[in-house]
Amino acid sequence: MADNMTDLADIFYKDNQLNFALGQPDYPIYPKQIMQFMTEIIDSQNSRLHQYTMDQGLPRLKSILVKLYSHLMPTVNIGDENLFVTTGSSAALYCSIKAQVREPGDRVLILDPSYPYYSRIVRSVGGLSVSVPMLVDPSTGRWLLDTDKVERVMKSEKPCAIIINTPHNPTGRVFSESELLCIANLCKTYNVFAICDEVYEWYVYQPNKHFRFASIPGMFDRCVTIGSLSKWFHVTGWRLGWALTGDTSLVNAIHETHACFCISSSTPIQEATARMIEWEYEKLIVDHSVEKIDHANQLSLSYWTETCHLLSEKHEKIAKILTDFGLKPLPVDSGYYILADCTELSAKLNLQSGTAFVTWLSRQGIQCAPLAMFCANNDDSQRYEHMVRFCFIKSDETLRKLSERLDFIKRTIVSQVSNIQ
Ligand code: PMP
Repeated sequence: MADNMTDLADIFYKDNQLNFALGQPDYPIYPKQIMQFMTEIIDSQNSRLHQYTMDQGLPRLKSILVKLYSHLMPTVNIGDENLFVTTGSSAALYCSIKAQVREPGDRVLILDPSYPYYSRIVRSVGGLSVSVPMLVDPSTGRWLLDTDKVERVMKSEKPCAIIINTPHNPTGRVFSESELLCIANLCKTYNVFAICDEVYEWYVYQPNKHFRFASIPGMFDRCVTIGSLSKWFHVTGWRLGWALTGDTSLVNAIHETHACFCISSSTPIQEATARMIEWEYEKLIVDHSVEKIDHANQLSLSYWTETCHLLSEKHEKIAKILTDFGLKPLPVDSGYYILADCTELSAKLNLQSGTAFVTWLSRQGIQCAPLAMFCANNDDSQRYEHMVRFCFIKSDETLRKLSERLDFIKRTIVSQVSNIQ
């Protein structure tokens, strides 16, 4: 028998959890063409599409990726030899980090908060993560990148590599051209290799712009750019990614490691991805030229352009839902994560931290993630204890349920507690 509102909510929502913690869609947001291509591949009589392909990647996929990146970075000379297809971008990250950490204890610089997989990989290949924490400007709610601090750490810790994630998970921040130029200069001065995780590049909201680190003069050879099918077309279970770099010795090192654990990546998935990018490439060219002629014109929209609009609408919806509940969402430039400050609400509920808030909310049937878990350096996690992350690449139905459920919790539990105080 439930003896308080929290228990009541627990029973009510028991088998009906709303998961906003996981970074994946809960509905078929992927382009229908990619499924069509996959069906055609399965049905086709071409048995080669179901056997091993080249270790470096299926030639058709490499070819369209080279064409696309050459279009996006016209000043960079990109060839087939610069690209390696991997099993998920996680594998591209793993192989790239492993290639940089040559001696046990080699440092890798990470900007916190950060995608937890970075420090996990650094540790597993025998390296050490050193971090520079980003902090929120209290007046604007925007995340500040302290490039002076980056320089100090490069000078003192002598890292072999820096991981630059833009658009950024979990903050949704897009680094500006001037910030990236400044980091590029530091990389040159202190001989630091840049590992650029740009997996969310297609989902940058207007008027922000994605700036490609590799396009900075002299940087293509000093960095690797990582892309992901999980994020480009929202089929996270297909496990495909790639690494692009002007440093061909790095391509060889990635080959060495990747071949050890999976020889090559899945052939039919590469074929479907190649056909999808070819399709998308044509539309993107039109979108780009349309954009140049008339910003308001929304003729032939590519999947990326359309999905970016959709995500920015979902962002507005969830920001309002969270605000109505009493959280303080931070501004977001891109992607599908939103951070919210839970200080006031936690205080009302007598909860000591963001982690305690997450546990409390999950008892009400809603999962989100504490920002404290996105830290390469545990000492930094204290700084982020008052924030939580929601992933909003969810159906409108799920967002509606979130709104209803938070409204119920607010009217029952939160107001009850507030009345007691
Ligand atoms: N980088 C970032 C910043 C991510 O958020 C993720 C997944 N959430 C990945 C890389 C890994 O993606 P995948 O291995 O599915 O390509």
